Amino acid sequence: MVFWEGYLSDEAMGTFAPIVVYWLYAGMYQILPPLDRYRMHTRKEEEQKNLVPISLVIKGVLLQQLVQATVAQALFWMTSRAGLTGVTVQASLAVQALQILIAMFVMDTWQYFVHRYMHQNKFLYRHIHSQHHRLVVPYAIGALYNHPLEGLLLDTFGGALSYLVSGMTERTAVVFFCFAVVKTVDDHCGLWLPGNIFHLVFQNNTAYHDIHHQLQGTKYNYSQPFFAIWDKLLGTHMPYSLVKRPEGGFEARPVKD
Ligand SMILES: [Zn+2]
Ligand SMILES: [Zn+2]
Repeated sequence: MVFWEGYLSDEAMGTFAPIVVYWLYAGMYQILPPLDRYRMHTRKEEEQKNLVPISLVIKGVLLQQLVQATVAQALFWMTSRAGLTGVTVQASLAVQALQILIAMFVMDTWQYFVHRYMHQNKFLYRHIHSQHHRLVVPYAIGALYNHPLEGLLLDTFGGALSYLVSGMTERTAVVFFCFAVVKTVDDHCGLWLPGNIFHLVFQNNTAYHDIHHQLQGTKYNYSQPFFAIWDKLLGTHMPYSLVKRPEGGFEARPVKD
């Protein structure tokens, strides 16, 4: 029993809930006071280094979400497991947790290789992925500021693959997709807040991904959104130290060997 039962199908929730969750979670970060003591870059740095104004970032995210929602609906329709009865049996909570874990690995694997290739292929970088890197100083609502094709390739197809390989139902997929979106927003929040559960649980977190957005780190820390495994296995992991800035806040500083 879920709260949307009788109102919305699981497929519709799987498509639209991540969008709503994105704006709620990123919006929460956006309305926080400046919090200079916890920022990973100063506000001045954000102004100087970012190559796109926030109004265009919001438009870009909305466009990407529109494209993704359209394609996601079609993919759900093609892969629906409900069959003719329209009824899906939910697995036990333990099985669902395992399916989510498998989905996390599948999504990470897909995103690592596609993301890395988009950096290595100059055409793809220039025309597609460089859009995401216009935010040298990331902030929450810019987390999904991507070229629409990148959104499709990385997130929609990555999500579909994780869903299919893990064998989860559409209902479990709603939870998984929302979780992946929250994690992605958090990785771009630009704040090192005390007690942030993602910072405690995941080695791949706000500071880890911040390195990738820095000019000296673009060839490292491709892994996203959950683990750091592929970076470590394939030699693209950039260790860093988190240092306190004298004027307040933190800085993720790459440690080169
Ligand atoms: Zn990148
Ligand atoms: Zn990013």
